[in-house]
Amino acid sequence: MSTATPKHPSITGGCVCESIRYQISFPEGSVYPPNPCTCQCTTCRKHSGALIVHFITVQLPQITWLSPTNSDSPPNRPSEIHTSSKAVRYFCAKCGTSLAFKLLELDELELMAGTLDEDVLNGPHATELTRPIGAQFFCKRVIEGTTDFIMKSEDADLKKSIKWVEDSSEGKKLD
Ligand SMILES: [Zn+2]
Ligand SMILES: [Zn+2]
Repeated sequence: MSTATPKHPSITGGCVCESIRYQISFPEGSVYPPNPCTCQCTTCRKHSGALIVHFITVQLPQITWLSPTNSDSPPNRPSEIHTSSKAVRYFCAKCGTSLAFKLLELDELELMAGTLDEDVLNGPHATELTRPIGAQFFCKRVIEGTTDFIMKSEDADLKKSIKWVEDSSEGKKLD
């Protein structure tokens, strides 16, 4: 293990009731920014209550589950629910916060960016961490005039982001 200071500071987040807390580190060689993307599929919408869900992608070894805030008790792990045969969603069983989505076949989490702490989302790295330059999923569910701004953005990086009609396994990209 290298003891060199990682180039990017670690970030923290958790659920509303703060019983589930996590830290994401960015060791040398990890992807940064962590593939920020959005999804507008029905399951993301219903599970989160948001019209657009913003994710960042982290490899499982990048995540450390922390003790609840103001507590020395061992870290709590999120509860899991299988929302399809391919995927599981992580949430807090106490307060209901949606935390992450995981494809069973991958050792990575799509972490809901809205669960990052305020000091991260209002901090100096917020834009690079969350601007969805990675991909936009389920563009076919876009709501005209409400959630189509990402597809219509003139921002050069967002223009380059991959706009999937559904998810990437289905394979069709928006023209
Ligand atoms: Zn909670
Ligand atoms: Zn989705």
